[in-house]
Amino acid sequence: MNIQIKDLSQVYKNDFRALNKVNLEIESGMFGLLGPNGAGKSTLMRILVTLLNPSHGDILVNGKSLSKNRSEVRSYLGYLPQDFRFFSKLKTWEFLDYAASLTGIKNKKERLKAVDHMLEQVGLFDVRNRYANKLSGGMKRRLGIAQALIGDPKIIIVDEPTTGLDPEERIRFRNILSNLSQQDVIIILSTHIVGDISSTCQQMALLNKGQVHFQGTPEMFVNQSSGHVFNTNVTFEQLKVIGEQYPVITSVPGANGYEIEFVADEVKGWDTKLVEPNLEHAYVYFMEYIANEKFQYQ
Ligand code: ADP
Repeated sequence: MNIQIKDLSQVYKNDFRALNKVNLEIESGMFGLLGPNGAGKSTLMRILVTLLNPSHGDILVNGKSLSKNRSEVRSYLGYLPQDFRFFSKLKTWEFLDYAASLTGIKNKKERLKAVDHMLEQVGLFDVRNRYANKLSGGMKRRLGIAQALIGDPKIIIVDEPTTGLDPEERIRFRNILSNLSQQDVIIILSTHIVGDISSTCQQMALLNKGQVHFQGTPEMFVNQSSGHVFNTNVTFEQLKVIGEQYPVITSVPGANGYEIEFVADEVKGWDTKLVEPNLEHAYVYFMEYIANEKFQYQ
């Protein structure tokens, strides 16, 4: 599978430009779209699932224009929206059965087999007879991914999937997605949570103020902040001073003050050691020192 996003812009009715000339190449595997709230991620996801027409540009799926082949592309799309809700009082398995029928599985026996398989895959088989609206928050989210995955979609789009989940559920959710990414499918995961990207995505992009600032592997992204992450020991008073100069990422209290990690273009006046960057460091470095300088809004 292959998706090419070409020169895509979205201007809303109030003249707000939510996407500005977005170009992206997405191949099979897990693709993480990272960006702060308001970056334009949901707008891009809604265009991808054909819920919104872009103001300019197009998307090619395996070389075919999305705008000219809507129904075909829809037939192999699975979508978990940010605000996934249940509209009726159905049992968990009934809800999935309904979702399966919408994807076109007509044969009842075949459909029930697909439902059971999916319930097993997302760990909801034991609660299949519980009403969907009585599931816990994490279980509802898993049911959401199950309805997106049923019918074997080739492109799976999940918008902010781990918001509101506890750490255990978050890991479980990531594992479900990463198991799928072994197949010839594209999974696009939009998130403002750095941890969602680091463990699972082979490719990623950073979106900010409607523009793509980076596309590549998470490793490439991390490497960009190499030489810009520092460690030092400070007193409580110094912590306040340094916190006003640079973004402090972690501060661990110890016997004589705090051991901190912070990012900076260059450091003056502090005794520091360089730290191997991780994705969180890289994200903060990018947002603070690169994004806002290089990419001014036109
Ligand atoms: P994200 O998903 O990254 O948080 P969104 O795509 O939801 O970003 O929103 C991007 C920007 O577009 C935000 O500033 C938001 O307020 C604005 N926006 C979203 N939908 C509309 C709309 N229907 N009309 C006007 N502005 C909108």
